[in-house]
Amino acid sequence: MSHADLMIQESVLLAPLTSWRIGGVAQYVANVRSAAGVEAALAFADQHRLPVWILGGGSNMLISDNGLPGVVIRMRDTSMHTVVQTDTARVTIGAGAPMAGSVRHLGNAGWAGLTWAEGLPGTFGGAVYGNAGCYGGDIAQSVAEVHVWRAGALVHHTPDTLAFAYRTSAIKRQNAPTMHQGMHVGDVGPIVVAATVQLVRDDPQRLSAEMARTAALRRSKTPQGSSCGSVFKNPPNDSAGRLIEAAGLKGYTHGGAIVSEKHANYIVNRGGATSADVRTIVAHIQSVVMREFGLALEPEVQVLGEVW
Ligand SMILES: Cc1cc2nc3c(=O)[nH]c(=O)nc-3n(C[C@H](O)[C@H](O)[C@H](O)COP(=O)(O)OP(=O)(O)OC[C@H]3O[C@@H](n4cnc5c(N)ncnc54)[C@H](O)[C@@H]3O)c2cc1C
Repeated sequence: MSHADLMIQESVLLAPLTSWRIGGVAQYVANVRSAAGVEAALAFADQHRLPVWILGGGSNMLISDNGLPGVVIRMRDTSMHTVVQTDTARVTIGAGAPMAGSVRHLGNAGWAGLTWAEGLPGTFGGAVYGNAGCYGGDIAQSVAEVHVWRAGALVHHTPDTLAFAYRTSAIKRQNAPTMHQGMHVGDVGPIVVAATVQLVRDDPQRLSAEMARTAALRRSKTPQGSSCGSVFKNPPNDSAGRLIEAAGLKGYTHGGAIVSEKHANYIVNRGGATSADVRTIVAHIQSVVMREFGLALEPEVQVLGEVW
C-alpha cells in the first residue's frame, strides 16, 4: 500500500464535501483510492476504536452540524480501465469516479449504455449503493459487475445478487440502518470499490446529442442552489413532488432552508442552512402530507450523525 491508496486528514469540515453544503467537522477523513486503502482505513478505525462512515460525492446525504466522530472513509478512486472487444467494451470504474464526468467521457468516446446518467451528481459507488436512476435508466440495468470490500476481502457481484430495487440495493439495506450513527468496524457491510459496465460502440455525435438533450431537460427541472436532489422517494404510482406541492408547501422555509418553488421535492440551502433547519422542514412535510393524503413519505436522502 502506498500513500496514494490512503491519505488521512484530521478535523475536516464536511459541508464543502456535500452538495447541500451542510455538515460539521469530521474527526478524521480517510481518502481512499483502492481496496488496499479501504482495508487500511478500516484497520486505522479499528486500532483507535472509532466508528466508520462512508462518503462518496456527498450528493445524497444530510450530515449533522455537530460533525461526525470517528473516520469518514471518502471514496476517491477515479480510475477507469477499458477492455475493448470489437464493438463492445467492459469498463471498470473506480467507486470515487464522478458519475457525470465518466458518463460524458465514455459517450464522447462512442460508448453507449450510460447516457441516461448525463449530469447525475455524485460518484459511481454512491450511485450503485442507492441504485441511482433517471431519464429511463438506472444502475441496476447498467452494471455487469460490482466489486465490493466485504469482511476483509474483495468480492465480485453480478447485479442479480445485489437485489436492486427503486433507489435501493442489498448494500444499502445492509448499511443504512447503522450508517446514521456510524458503523463499528466489525459491522461494516459491503463497501463498493469499483463497478464494471458493459457498453456498446455507437456514433459519438449521436451520443453527444442525446446527452445534450438530457442535460437540457435536467437543467430545466433542477432548482438553482445547493440541494441533495429529491429529498423523498416517490410513493408507488405517485410523485413526492406532486404531493408536497398539493399540500401547499412550496416556498415553506425554516432558517436558511426552503422548499423549492420550482420542484417541491427539493429543499434548497439559501445560505447558512443547518442540518436542523432541513430536518425541521422534512418533519413538517411528512406530517402535512400524512394529514392531507394519509401517505408516509420516506426520505431518499441518507442522514449521518445527530441531526435532531
Ligand atoms: C441536483 C441533484 C440532482 C439529483 N438527481 C438525481 C437523479 O436524477 N436520480 C437519482 O437517483 N439521484 C439523484 N440525486 C441524488 C444523488 O446524486 C445520487 O443519490 C447519487 O448516486 C449519490 O452518490 P454520492 O456519491 O454523492 O453518494 P453520497 O451522497 O456520498 O452517499 C450516499 C449514500 O451512499 C453511501 N455510499 C457512497 N459511496 C459508497 C461506496 N463506495 N460504498 C458503499 N456505500 C457508499 C453513503 O454512505 C451514503 O449512505 C441528485 C442529487 C442532486 C444534488
